[in-house]
Amino acid sequence: MPIKSKNILILGGGIGGMVTARDLRKHLGDQHKIILIDKNAFHTFQPSYFWLVIGWRTPADITKPFAPLEKYGIEFHQGEVMDILPEEQKVVTDREVLSYDYLVISMGTENDFDVMPELRNVSHTFYTFEGAIELSKIIPRFPGGSINIIVPDLDHKYLPAPYDTAFLLSSFYKKREMYNIDINIITPEQSPLEFAGKEISGQIQELLDQNKIKLYSNTVIKSIDPQKKIIHTENSHEISYDLLISIPKHRPIRLPHRKSLMDDKGWFIVDKYSLQTSYKNIYAIGDATSIILDNGKKLPKAGVFANNQAEVVAYNIVQSIYESREKKNFSGYGFFFIETGTGRAANLHGNFYTESSPKLTLTEPNVTFHWGKVVLEKYWIWRWF
Ligand SMILES: Cc1cc2nc3c(=O)[nH]c(=O)nc-3n(C[C@H](O)[C@H](O)[C@H](O)COP(=O)(O)OP(=O)(O)OC[C@H]3O[C@@H](n4cnc5c(N)ncnc54)[C@H](O)[C@@H]3O)c2cc1C
Repeated sequence: MPIKSKNILILGGGIGGMVTARDLRKHLGDQHKIILIDKNAFHTFQPSYFWLVIGWRTPADITKPFAPLEKYGIEFHQGEVMDILPEEQKVVTDREVLSYDYLVISMGTENDFDVMPELRNVSHTFYTFEGAIELSKIIPRFPGGSINIIVPDLDHKYLPAPYDTAFLLSSFYKKREMYNIDINIITPEQSPLEFAGKEISGQIQELLDQNKIKLYSNTVIKSIDPQKKIIHTENSHEISYDLLISIPKHRPIRLPHRKSLMDDKGWFIVDKYSLQTSYKNIYAIGDATSIILDNGKKLPKAGVFANNQAEVVAYNIVQSIYESREKKNFSGYGFFFIETGTGRAANLHGNFYTESSPKLTLTEPNVTFHWGKVVLEKYWIWRWF
């Protein structure tokens, strides 16, 4: 019997959405329609924002328009998703209403500056494309003083970010023989990369010490005085700064609340292996989901998980369309290249779905892992666009 043609909608053209779209296209015949929706006309590769800040990349290097995806048989519709109607199998954007047979939600998170509204005015952030571009102009002109990387809340995507940034900046200024710059990290974390366990925290702390980067751990920011350039902390410390770089808390993207799809906060609820929601034909992946691990903590939000989950979901949709019972599960495995400066990176990898706490390993920093990250980025831009 011929297979009926299907309409597959993918919401969000970030890491998860792109992998889903391309994997589906590779395995599905032309009679099946793959539509990618994004509010922006361009994809930007977020892991390269670090390199944008220190001038290793230009904005154009890490930006690609979605429209040419049509040449691969992926229809691109620009539009902001306003609502998902699971019972009617429809998605409403600010421009149109689209029907689907299968839906994959990969709309990531929003930065939440409302937690500390003053951060918008007193700090810079590389967590947005525009912010990273702005910082790329400030960093090379910084004359000297204290650069404080502040983490107001641990609910932020890509938990290693404060450390990557500190190591890269330290290396950037050392190369310019600017020794009048102090780099500090202020974070509520008890120890660096707390989620990875004591041993790895110790390894990161050693690297921070070697680079003379001061870590204010277990420190919650109470307020910031931009006139005096002082941060007041909950434990009554006053920390002065000349340049503030903030890592914003994340929140779910704003959509009308659908109890059958989302938890109280608005994160999509999924089966942690299949990424299926309570609807058989709706999947959610990547940062937009909240996956609780066996130790009660949340699966960190990172591109590597969005990527691996997308591969599982694309595979399972193909199997479902071809009426095969074969299915794949997301294993919980992830790896990160953590930039440690001087052209090196360490590799943090392991499985987050182990029974107790994630079992992770951090390698010694080396040049190969840094180049591994470069190759990954180049491959991403080349393969998907
Ligand atoms: C500076 C920085 C460095 C990072 N480095 C790493 C790293 O080294 N390794 C790693 O694993 N992860 C890293 N990450 C995290 C990684 O980028 C994210 O976890 C990953 O992009 C999540 O993928 P996603 O598909 O879930 O969401 P995203 O990639 O964020 O994609 C979401 C997409 O949805 C679109 N969208 C949002 N709302 C709507 C709407 N209402 N309507 C239509 N479209 C919408 C957005 O425009 C976007 O294109 C980094 C993040 C940052 C900010």
